[in-house]
Amino acid sequence: MEDTIAAIATPPGVGGIGIIRVSGPKSKDIARLLFRSSKRDDGFKSHHLYHGDIVSPETGLVIDEVLISLMMKPHSYTGEDVLEINCHGGSVILQSVLSEVIIAGARLAEPGEFTRRAFLNNRIDLTQAESIVEMIMAKTDRGLELAVSHLKGNLAEKIETIRASIIDILAIIETSIDFSDEDIAISNYSDISRKIETVIDELHKLVSTYREGKIYRDGINAVIAGRPNVGKSSLLNRLSGEKRAIITALPGTTRDFIEEIVNIRGVPVKLTDTAGIREPENIIEKEGVRLVWEKLAQADVAIIVLDGNTLLTKEDTDIIERCRAMKRLLVINKADLSHMLDERELTTLIPDTIPLIWISAKYGDGIPELKDAIYSIVLDNPHNRQSAYIISNVRHKTAIEKTAASLLKARDAVESGLSPEFYAFDVREALDSLGEIGGKTVTEEILDRIFSTFCIGK
Ligand code: GDP
Repeated sequence: MEDTIAAIATPPGVGGIGIIRVSGPKSKDIARLLFRSSKRDDGFKSHHLYHGDIVSPETGLVIDEVLISLMMKPHSYTGEDVLEINCHGGSVILQSVLSEVIIAGARLAEPGEFTRRAFLNNRIDLTQAESIVEMIMAKTDRGLELAVSHLKGNLAEKIETIRASIIDILAIIETSIDFSDEDIAISNYSDISRKIETVIDELHKLVSTYREGKIYRDGINAVIAGRPNVGKSSLLNRLSGEKRAIITALPGTTRDFIEEIVNIRGVPVKLTDTAGIREPENIIEKEGVRLVWEKLAQADVAIIVLDGNTLLTKEDTDIIERCRAMKRLLVINKADLSHMLDERELTTLIPDTIPLIWISAKYGDGIPELKDAIYSIVLDNPHNRQSAYIISNVRHKTAIEKTAASLLKARDAVESGLSPEFYAFDVREALDSLGEIGGKTVTEEILDRIFSTFCIGK
């Protein structure tokens, strides 16, 4: 029989309430032992809330006034009997109540152990378990939406449909093994090959959504580059909506990197404001400029800022040139002043595909267009996605790729007229790989790795 686990489920620190969660066969006994109801009540009904005190059985002292609920199996988060104690949210209170729960027969839960039990009791599959961490970590509304859709089992359902198609294919192949003495019509083989091909296509479409999913989940790095005084800090402030970077009219004042994560159309974008790039006058400036190049080399996108109120300088063209191999956007700032910058000269330096965006960091003109441009360049044509499902987890991507690779081997074997035993093997392997995603075929080691990323109490 499973043991009973317990943990503080709310974050450390002081809060309005703090919750202790208990799961396992002793949950009800622990409630009976520690809880004194404020009403005369001779038992606990599942999924009801009770008011009363937690009393130490040893000293008879009240530790806290609480609300408790019991959720009897199987209708609980873990699929086991679960007890939740809503305490006042102080760390001493929570620790004291937790100690009593432990003395009463529970043990401290490992990170993610509640969710691991939910998975082992078939309450959720592995993609749903993983989506819980994704939800907690979501940085934007869009990232959260994606995680919720995974939690609701949308991806699990899609994977299940693909699995069903592969099982169908395997059934046809196995029938052909059983009847291999009687010649199976050639058309049957081309039918198998076509069916395999369709599944492979489906898998490739899913894999192709990974980049987008990862971007919504983890975000991207954008570096704002340009010579001093073009308005880089002003742009960072404008995009992040708050005055944090120091703005002065003296060239080269943004010495350190200032970073902000901003939500651009649902994508978490880490914006880094760099020191102005100019011909270094001393060793410190030289080091500063070197660091900017280093930052740029690691960025997903370079936002190159130019001053629309001056002519293009050699420093500007150097920066444009140095960022040639990167995804880059050209932003011409100070559109509110007279337009001195020669756009024609600029367009000779860059391919037509790079957008030029006039903005005024000071007054906000052109900022919505800039956000659209950042979104489009980051996601590479976001409206062109081929699959309604998005994957965002590298473990899922790897498993899908492995599945597709096995199916490809199977298809080649079918087409080269090998005996069905050969490709039956590959198709079974494909099934195993796909099963890893939801947790049908998964090792303890993988489970350990996944659940160790959870916090205690989850
Ligand atoms: P950085 O050195 O590139 O970070 O430039 P700053 O953001 O510090 O801006 C340099 C100067 O240009 C400051 O005096 C800003 O007020 C001014 N500035 C920035 N953006 C604009 C703009 O859109 N219009 C106007 N008129 N001035 C701006």
